[in-house]
Amino acid sequence: MRFDVLTLFPEMITPVIQVSILKRAQEKGLATIRVHPLRDYTTDKHRVTDDSPYGGGAGMVLKPEPIFAAIDAIRAESECRALPARARGVGASEDPSPCVTARAPTDRKDDVLRVLLASPQGRVFDQKWAEEMSQERRRLVLVCGRYEGVDERVKVGLDAEEFSIGDYVLTGGELPALVVLDSVVRLIPGVLGDPDSPCQESFNDDLLEHPHYTRPFIFRGMAVPEILLSGDHGQIARWRRQQALWSTFRKRPDLFQKLMRMERITRGDEELLDEVNIQNDKNELGERGKLHESDD
Ligand code: SAM
Repeated sequence: MRFDVLTLFPEMITPVIQVSILKRAQEKGLATIRVHPLRDYTTDKHRVTDDSPYGGGAGMVLKPEPIFAAIDAIRAESECRALPARARGVGASEDPSPCVTARAPTDRKDDVLRVLLASPQGRVFDQKWAEEMSQERRRLVLVCGRYEGVDERVKVGLDAEEFSIGDYVLTGGELPALVVLDSVVRLIPGVLGDPDSPCQESFNDDLLEHPHYTRPFIFRGMAVPEILLSGDHGQIARWRRQQALWSTFRKRPDLFQKLMRMERITRGDEELLDEVNIQNDKNELGERGKLHESDD
């Protein structure tokens, strides 16, 4: 999969894509991530990328020209790649760069690029959207805003999808772009060592994941649940389902309500939850009993 990040601050993106899973995905040839400094696409002497807002007001706005120029260059490169070798001039000595002829205007329906614009006003990014993007065949272009934001014609003229990473305002779109990159790249088949791991994570099926434990068995007086050492895979799966249901019910009632509405909580699930509730009530009674004992 190919990703292009358009930013005024490439130094915020580059170190992050050079470590861990993002690095490995690129080494395996499963992801190509290109960072485009927006200043490289300016044409004036001072390499200006922003200007004051029409109508007045505080702050600056990112100009449309460098963003459109970057997109034109990325598209021209993609279309050039899509051409047969002969048309690209591969093997021909006279013209090494016929790609210029493949350049297309930016205002037509795009079948090579998908442009995503970081914006606090966008659709909130979630796991389902990440999954959908990880299947994308087009090149994903992530545009990072700055200052007061980006000239509105970027959104309209490039048919850009606005995405938000939550209801708060950040200084720029670089962190949101990295959030999208990280969550999408790890879902590309072959990127993670264990192909099952994305299937077992939180938000898969709208459930949060069960808790995890590792050695030592007892740490600071806290023991690992015995069932996990039983070797009984059926019972372990049952315990994990129960914990996942309980975590979702307790931590994310909104998700749990959604599952209920969609009738995805089975009679068996309800029984598992009842068991935890009874266990918790017993524990609570025990705790209260201890409190009363200490009152005496
Ligand atoms: N004036 C804008 C507004 O009120 O909607 C906020 C601009 S913000 C300071 C600058 C840039 O940061 C935005 O253009 C966007 O690219 C990025 N940004 C800020 N918060 C974001 C969020 N929650 N999700 C995605 N991008 C965000």
